[in-house]
Amino acid sequence: MATGKINVSVDNIFPLIKKFLYSDHEIFLRELISNATDATLKLKHLTSIGEAKVEYGNPIIEIKVDKEGKKLHVIDQGLGMTEEEVKKYINEVAFSGAEEFLNKYEDSAKDAGIIGHFGLGFYSAFMVADKVEIITKSFKDEPAVHWSCDGSPNFTIEASDKKERGTEIILHIADDSTEFLEDHRISELLRKYNKFMPVPIKFGTKTETLPKPEGAKEEDPAPTKEVDNIINNPNPAWTKQPADLKDEDYKSFYRELYPMQFDEPLFHIHLNVDYPFNLTGILYFPKLTNDLNIQKDKIQLYQNQVFVTDNVEGIVPEFLTMLRGVIDSPDIPLNVSRSYLQADGAVKKISSYITRKVADKLSSLFKNNRKDFESKWNDIKIVIEYGMLSEDKFFEKADKFALYPTVDGEFYTFEELQDKIKENQTDKDDKLVILYASDKEAQHSYIAAAKDKGYEVLLLDSPIISHLMQKLETSKEKISFARVDADPIDKLIQKEDTQISKLSDEEKEKLKADLEAVFGEKSNYTVQLEAMDSDASPFIITEPEFMRRMKEMQQTGGGMFGMGNMPEMYNLIVNTNHELVSEILNTKTAKKKERLINQSLDLAKLSKGLLKGAELTEFIKRSYDMVK
Ligand code: ADP
Ligand code: MG
Repeated sequence: MATGKINVSVDNIFPLIKKFLYSDHEIFLRELISNATDATLKLKHLTSIGEAKVEYGNPIIEIKVDKEGKKLHVIDQGLGMTEEEVKKYINEVAFSGAEEFLNKYEDSAKDAGIIGHFGLGFYSAFMVADKVEIITKSFKDEPAVHWSCDGSPNFTIEASDKKERGTEIILHIADDSTEFLEDHRISELLRKYNKFMPVPIKFGTKTETLPKPEGAKEEDPAPTKEVDNIINNPNPAWTKQPADLKDEDYKSFYRELYPMQFDEPLFHIHLNVDYPFNLTGILYFPKLTNDLNIQKDKIQLYQNQVFVTDNVEGIVPEFLTMLRGVIDSPDIPLNVSRSYLQADGAVKKISSYITRKVADKLSSLFKNNRKDFESKWNDIKIVIEYGMLSEDKFFEKADKFALYPTVDGEFYTFEELQDKIKENQTDKDDKLVILYASDKEAQHSYIAAAKDKGYEVLLLDSPIISHLMQKLETSKEKISFARVDADPIDKLIQKEDTQISKLSDEEKEKLKADLEAVFGEKSNYTVQLEAMDSDASPFIITEPEFMRRMKEMQQTGGGMFGMGNMPEMYNLIVNTNHELVSEILNTKTAKKKERLINQSLDLAKLSKGLLKGAELTEFIKRSYDMVK
C-alpha cells in the first residue's frame, strides 16, 4: 500500500477567495476595520499590562477614498507589524494572529474585545482589489515594512520610511468593484457594520459651527471649523452597566439604532451574562401592530461591537423576533449554517436565557406597576400570546401576568378571571364558560344580551387568540371559551337541561315548513327551533364556536390544520316562546306571513352585521313602506 500527501497548490487560491470566501463582497471593509480595531485594542492591552512602553494616546482609524487613484486606504494607529510578523501573519493564509494573541494572553486578554478569529479576514480584500499594499510600523523599535501583492501568490517585501506607529492598508480597487470608490457607498457600509465599533473611525471631515465671539454683531456669520468626521459611537449603551444608564439613555440609544423610527419604545430589557456564555444587549418592546410579519428582522446581532446580521432566526426564539434592539455575543458560531445553529448547545442556552429574561422583566413590570402594565397590554399582547403558544417555559411564567381585558376595560389575570366568574358562569356540567367578543361594535347586541344576564364579557381581538384559547382549554381543567355570538346566551351557559316550549310538536313542524318556504333555497342558514325565555330575541343568527375558531386558526396558523378553505356556517335560531314567532305561525295571509319572516330574518342579519348590498337596500325600502 502506498500513502502520500495531496499537494494543494496555492497558485489558484486567489480566484477561490474572490469567488467563495464570503458571499457578500462588501464585508471586506468590515474585516479590514476589524483588523485595525484589533491592532488598536491589542496595543491598549499591551500598554495596560506594561508590555508595550509607548504612549497609547487617543488612536483613531481613518478611511480614505482616492477616487482618481482608484485606491481605498484603511489607516490605524495600532500596534503595527515587524517584517517577521508580516511574514508570519500575512503570508500564511488561515493563520490567525488574533487567535494566537488570545491564547498567549489568555485570561488577561479575554475581555479585550479582540474580533479576529479565523485568519481569513485580511484576504477578503482581494474580493474587491487586484492589488493590496501594507505599510506598517511596529510599536517595537524596528524599521517599517512595505508589503505588496497583486493577487497572484507572489508578494514583495521592502523597507518603508513610515514614521508613525500603525498600519496602512491600501486597496487598488478592481474594475468590477468601483462602487467602493464612491463616498456614499463607503458611508453606507460604515453605517451598517461599524456604527458601534470600539475605536473611533474617521471618514472625511465636517464643518462645525463655533459660538460667536464676545461682541460679535448680529449679522456676522458664526465662525466654523473643519473637524474629523467620526462615524461611530465607540461606547454604545449595551456595553455599559445598567446602573449607569437612565431611562432617557435607553431611549436615545433606541433612536440611534433606528433613526427612521419615530415611535418610542414601551420598555427595554438589558441583557448581561458572562457565564456559561458571554452575551450583552438591549431589547426593546416597540408598539406592535396586529400584523405579525412586517416587524421582523429588527434585532441586530453584533460580535464584539461589529455588526454581523439582522437575521437573528435560530438565536432568538421566534416570538421575540418582533422586538427590537441589539444582541452582542462572541459565542455565537456564525460561520455555520442556520440549521446547525439551532442544534448548537450554546445557542440553545442563549435562546432560553433571553426567553427567561424577557419573562422576568414582564413579570416585574406587572408586579411593580400594574396600571402601567395594563395600559401597555394592547401593544405587547401579541408577543406574549405568541410566546405562550410557542414556548412552554414562557407559558408557565406568562400565565401569571397575561391579561384578559373585558369589554368594560377591566383587566384580569386568568386566575382572577376564574374567581370573578365562577359563581355566575358555571354551567350544569360544572364547566366554567368564558364569554368573549372580538369586536365591541359589531357584536354589540350579543354583548348586551350577555350583560343583561350579569355575565362578564372579555374583549379578545388579537389575531392569534384562537390558538391561545385552544391551548388554555386543553391545559386547564373544565373551562371553555365561547364567543358571544356562538349560540344564544342561554345555550352558551346552559344552567338547566330543558326549557318548556309553548309550541306543540305539530306547530313546530308547521313553523319550520313556513320558514323554509320563504327563504329555503336562498340561505346558508341552518334553522334551529329553540324554546327560550320569551324576552330573548325571536330570531338570532349564530356562528358555532368550533367551526369559526378552526377557520380563524387556519387563517393565522399557516394551514397547519389542513382543512382547506372552510365555508362560513351560520345557524338561525328561532325562539319558539317569543310572541312574534307565534304571530308568524298564526298569520293566515301568506303575503303577510312572508313579509314578517323576511323582515325578521333581515333584522337578525342586521344585528350580526350580515345585511349588505342589495339585501340592505331592499330591507330599507321595505321598512319605509311599513312605517309610512
Ligand atoms: P484574524 O483577524 O482572524 O486573525 P486576518 O486574516 O484578518 O485574521 O488577519 C491576520 C493577521 O494579520 C491578524 O491576526 C494580525 O496579526 C495581522 N494583521 C492584520 N491586519 C493588521 C493590522 N491592521 N495591524 C496589525 N496586524 C494586522
Ligand atoms: Mg481579521
